[in-house]
Amino acid sequence: MKFNDLGLEPSLLKAIQEKGYSEPSPIQEKAIPVILKKKDVLASAQTGTGKTAGFTLPLLQLLSQKNSEIHRKVRALVLTPTRELAAQIYDNVKQYSTHIDIWSTVIFGGVNQKPQIATLRKGVDVLIATPGRLLDLHSQKALSLQHVEILVLDEADRMLDMGFQRDINKIMNLLPKRRQNLLFSATFSKEIKVLAQGILHQPVWVEATPENTTVEAIVQRIYKVDKARKAELIIKLIKEGNWDQVLVFTRTKHGANNLVKKMLKAEIAAAAIHGNKSQGARTKALAGFKEGSVKILVATDIAARGLDIPLLPHVINFELPNVPEDYVHRIGRTGRAGAKGEAISLVCIDEKAYLKDIEKLTGLRIPAEVKQGFEPDPNIKPEPPKQKGVRTRPRDHKRYGVSRNRNNRH
Ligand code: AMP
Repeated sequence: MKFNDLGLEPSLLKAIQEKGYSEPSPIQEKAIPVILKKKDVLASAQTGTGKTAGFTLPLLQLLSQKNSEIHRKVRALVLTPTRELAAQIYDNVKQYSTHIDIWSTVIFGGVNQKPQIATLRKGVDVLIATPGRLLDLHSQKALSLQHVEILVLDEADRMLDMGFQRDINKIMNLLPKRRQNLLFSATFSKEIKVLAQGILHQPVWVEATPENTTVEAIVQRIYKVDKARKAELIIKLIKEGNWDQVLVFTRTKHGANNLVKKMLKAEIAAAAIHGNKSQGARTKALAGFKEGSVKILVATDIAARGLDIPLLPHVINFELPNVPEDYVHRIGRTGRAGAKGEAISLVCIDEKAYLKDIEKLTGLRIPAEVKQGFEPDPNIKPEPPKQKGVRTRPRDHKRYGVSRNRNNRH
């Protein structure tokens, strides 16, 4: 199928051509015609499937077709969990609207409000926002949501994971009752289904890939190794494989910093990206990673969420996530746009329970091996779990929950 067959206007087709896309991705093929028919959509799609263009292109078309009476009022609202994702969606919206008369902006926490307020005052048609900052600026009367015609909830599962349920409810009460709703989520828990039921009206279900096949398409491997030797092993793997673009996940910010220090010592160009880093430092690290000066990006789950890094060949879990859905999100960073990717996890004896949860969720057994010279010490016994039956969220999540209304820190 071609983009021409989806019912998109020439001005948008031109922007697509300029982006260099030759044909629509499966989610675009399915979602664009349905959204153009003004239907509500419930879409199962991860980052990397082209979902952003999947909702942005028809959204821009619908807005640009309307008369100019309500020009420069927020008519489309895109809610996203993280500032990085918000910034990326904004970039996309800007690029796709090059040839149409639509203005857009992005607002998120952790940065000065003033420029955001000034831009809002000039008027915008499309607003991309994280929930906390949106409510904050709304309470200051810096924006109105009374004219919203299209609502997009992107990465809805992650928004719930990050404790945005109440903020989302509040935002819903600020919107007109009649509107088109599009909800995107990588996973579909009971909570997501409840959220969708409360927001969507007779939605069309759109799927990028059948559940879990993304996971199957990625080559997954485990190295069993003692906790104390993980850094040494990861450095060896990177050097041996001559890998030059690797996203590494750690569970904590402290762990990310520590690992970067060790890599730098081993003369591997690495940088960390997490909630304690300033927005400037994060942007710099990500830009360096994209253009190749940073070979290894070490990230916590939340910081990495939604990052647009095309064709990532390797993802390494330095530690397994204690929430199994995060594993799916993490390894979804590789094998993008049909390219093959490899997801490696370093697993120590304490992480057996996490591994079991992950294998249960994905329905796959991940092949495990031992790297020569890194055989686990049989005398090391697992540390007793801190609190049986209680899963702790990574520290980023906890912190976020406390501060999100203030400044969207994560
Ligand atoms: P997303 O899932 O929206 O984050 O998009 C993932 C990546 O795929 C981004 O780098 C997009 O620029 C790219 N992309 C989106 N649509 C297409 C397409 N039709 N053909 C090729 N690349 C695409």
